[in-house]
Amino acid sequence: MMDKKFKLKFNNSNLHESVSYILVSKFDIKPNVLQAKIDGSGGRMILSMRGSEKNIENAISYLESADIVVEEADDIKMDKKRCIDCGSCVSICPTFAFEIDKSTWDVSLDTGKCVACGTCISACPTHAISLKMNL
Ligand code: SF4
Ligand code: SF4
Repeated sequence: MMDKKFKLKFNNSNLHESVSYILVSKFDIKPNVLQAKIDGSGGRMILSMRGSEKNIENAISYLESADIVVEEADDIKMDKKRCIDCGSCVSICPTFAFEIDKSTWDVSLDTGKCVACGTCISACPTHAISLKMNL
């Protein structure tokens, strides 16, 4: 089992594909839509897929055959050289992706829990957090 994040780009002809339904029913993948946006040129979506490597590969091939552009999305990053373990990100994260080690007060990040909301980026006083997942 693996959990990977992808950026999908739709054009006006494939915009109404039921991606989540297809991933679940055809490929036994658990999708989680993290961000989505529609404008005049089509739509963009960031979603995570949880499933076997083979099923994720097959799902990507299927989406690409429907003319949906699929790119692997970067995970959120935390630069520990900049981090001062202030804890601001810990209290603000809605998915509890950050954790404090109570014996050392060291703050760590579980990227698998991140839903790419971006809230922690502006909360960090030292600019230690970056997220290249913009739609
Ligand atoms: S981007 Fe949002 S979900 Fe991800 S770690 Fe930051 S606050 Fe948590
Ligand atoms: S807000 Fe920034 S400096 Fe503070 S613990 Fe989080 S990553 Fe480190």
